[in-house]
Amino acid sequence: MDRWSRLTPHELNVLESVLWLHGPTRDALLPRLSLSRTQANSVVAGLLEQGWLERGGQRESSGGRRAETLCLHPSLGVLLCADIGATSLDVAVLGLDLKLRERHTEAIDVRAGPAAVLARTRALMRELLARCKLKPRDVLAIGLGVPGPVDFATGQLVEPPLMPGWDSYAIREDLRSDYAAPVWVDNDVNLMALAELWRVKRELQNFLLIKVGTGIGCGIVCHAEVYRGANGSAGDVGHICVDPGGPRCHCGNVGCVEVMAGGPAIARDATAAARSGASELLAQRLAEAGVLTPEDVGLAGRAGDTAAHQIVQRAGQLVGQMLASVVNLFNPSHVFVGGGLTRIGPLYLAALRQCVYQRSLALSTRHLEVGYSPLGDSAGLIGAGVLALQEVLRGRGKVMAAP
Ligand SMILES: [Zn+2]
Repeated sequence: MDRWSRLTPHELNVLESVLWLHGPTRDALLPRLSLSRTQANSVVAGLLEQGWLERGGQRESSGGRRAETLCLHPSLGVLLCADIGATSLDVAVLGLDLKLRERHTEAIDVRAGPAAVLARTRALMRELLARCKLKPRDVLAIGLGVPGPVDFATGQLVEPPLMPGWDSYAIREDLRSDYAAPVWVDNDVNLMALAELWRVKRELQNFLLIKVGTGIGCGIVCHAEVYRGANGSAGDVGHICVDPGGPRCHCGNVGCVEVMAGGPAIARDATAAARSGASELLAQRLAEAGVLTPEDVGLAGRAGDTAAHQIVQRAGQLVGQMLASVVNLFNPSHVFVGGGLTRIGPLYLAALRQCVYQRSLALSTRHLEVGYSPLGDSAGLIGAGVLALQEVLRGRGKVMAAP
C-alpha cells in the first residue's frame, strides 16, 4: 500500500472522480475537479504515465466527436465483496470498473453465527479469486455488507436483532487473516444506497433506498453521501410502529412495519389464508410445496386470487404508510425500492407508491419519484465494491489497514 501514500490529494481526487463517473472522457471529468484545464491535464498525464490510469475505449463527447475515456488501471487489483443477508450469501470478485467478474450466491442462515458464516465467505472468496486466476495479493480492498446496524468506525455490528452472536464480532480481523488488503463493513442497505449513488454518478444528491425483504431498512443519501447518523443506525426504519394493535415483533415492540409487512409476514398471512379456505390457489400451492413464499402470493394475486391480492396490497400500503413519514421528514427527490420483495410484482409497488403520495405533504411529493432500483440483486455487491474502492481512494485505506 506504500505506493498509495505518495499520491497527492489532487491525484486521489482525479482517481475518485474516475470511479464515480464510470470511466469518463476528459471533458466529463473536468467539471468535477476543482482544477484548471491545464492543471487537470497535467495530473491526468502523470497518472497515466505512472500506471494509475489507463486509456479506455472511445466515447461520444461534446459536439458529437469521439473522445477517449479514462479508467482506473486494472493492474491496481480487484475488489473482493460479500453481501451477507439473513438467508443468503453473495460473494463476488469485482474489477475496478465495478463490473462483477465472478459471482456465487447460496442460501445460508445468518443465525449460524459469525465464525461459520465468515469461514464460508472466506472459502468462497478463495475459490472465486482462483477462478479469476488471481492471488490474495491482487486484492486491493474488501467490502462487506451485513444485515444489521454497523458501527462504521470499527466495522462491528451493534446488537443486530436478526443476528444473535454477531454483536461486536471482529469481522475485519477475521478477514485480515487471509488478506493484507483493508476491509470495510457496512449495513447492507447503506451499501445498496451507495450503489445507487454510483449508478446515478452522484447527480442525485438526496434520496432514499428502501430494502424490503426478510427485514425492512432504509439507506439515506444526503448531500451525495450516505448518512449513517451518530451511531450508525440511521435509516433503521423496520421497527417503526404502523399498528399499535399489531402482532409482537422480535425486537419486543408490537406492530412494527417489519413484523407486519416483511417477507415472513406475507408468507404467514398467506398460509393463514390457505388454511382458512380464503384462498383456493394458495391452499393448492401450500399442499404442493409445503410452504408459501412471497413470490407465490404475488403470482396468485396476479392470477386473480382476491385474498392473495389483498395480502400484497396491505403489505405495500403498510410500507408506504411508514415511508410517508420518512418522506415528510427528509424530503428526498427519489425513493428507490430494492430487496427480495420487489420480485412480488407491480401491485406491491403500486400500493406502496399510492400510500406515500396520499399521506405525504404536497410539497414533499411534488417532484418525488418512487420506483424499483434498477440494480436489482447486484446492488449490495456493487455497493460493497464502491465502499471499498472509495475508502482506498480517500486515503483512509492505509490507515485502517494498520492493526
Ligand atoms: Zn420491531
